[in-house]
Amino acid sequence: FDDLNDAARRERFALPEAAAHYVRTVLRLLPGAHIELFDGSGRLARATLIACAPDEVIAEVESPRVSERGESSVQWVLFQAIPKGDRWEWLLEKATELGVDAIVPLTTRRGVVQLSEDRFEKKRARWEKIIAGAARQCRRAKIPALHAPLTPARALSDHPCDTHLVAHLGEGMMAVHRALDQQASEGDAIARAGLWVGPEGGFEEAEVDAILNAGGRPITLGPRVLRAETAGLTLLTLAQNALGE
Ligand code: SAM
Repeated sequence: FDDLNDAARRERFALPEAAAHYVRTVLRLLPGAHIELFDGSGRLARATLIACAPDEVIAEVESPRVSERGESSVQWVLFQAIPKGDRWEWLLEKATELGVDAIVPLTTRRGVVQLSEDRFEKKRARWEKIIAGAARQCRRAKIPALHAPLTPARALSDHPCDTHLVAHLGEGMMAVHRALDQQASEGDAIARAGLWVGPEGGFEEAEVDAILNAGGRPITLGPRVLRAETAGLTLLTLAQNALGE
């Protein structure tokens, strides 16, 4: 919902078509049922269904309250090269369930999927719908943001974070909890963490160096080569676990 306050002010309110369809056809609710509406930025409102007609679903909406339900105290930004086929959409859904706050698709030199701004804009509504559906399903108060694709260098400057964990194969990589312990021992608090995952062909060394030079920490996800989407979800889960989320 874009404007829950407005809905609450009007008290009786016809749900927008997508929400009406969900209530009527997917949940098959009847008048008298209690539902919860959310605006995706942390406000929730209870509502009671008054009418569920085929052409209109009317709800009585209470005043919205601010909620952090389902949200971590750390904000997680996933910087990830887009994998092929439907793996990306699967990743959007699962990363939302696992608590990501923002997703920045990366344009990398070895990326198989190179998304122009135009192509991204054509896909954006579909991808945002997947993210919103996942947030609703797992009862998060907030809907993660999907940003436009950027090169690693631009992503670093446009989306500053308190730490950057870069998943990469090779020598000298650290376990996620070690890297985060190290940062804590240096006295740096983490309110917003960047998690970086490369494309099927891996990051080029120059791309990794750019992130490391900006204070990034090189991370291993174990002795097996994971697919990009598995790597993104694993990194998110391990980092949350390391910070007790
Ligand atoms: N041949 C590629 C290479 O050598 O980098 C494999 C890339 S892997 C399929 C895709 C991405 O997942 C990598 O760029 C890295 O970010 C991440 N990744 C996969 N397995 C990993 C592991 N065991 N440790 C750290 N990162 C990993």
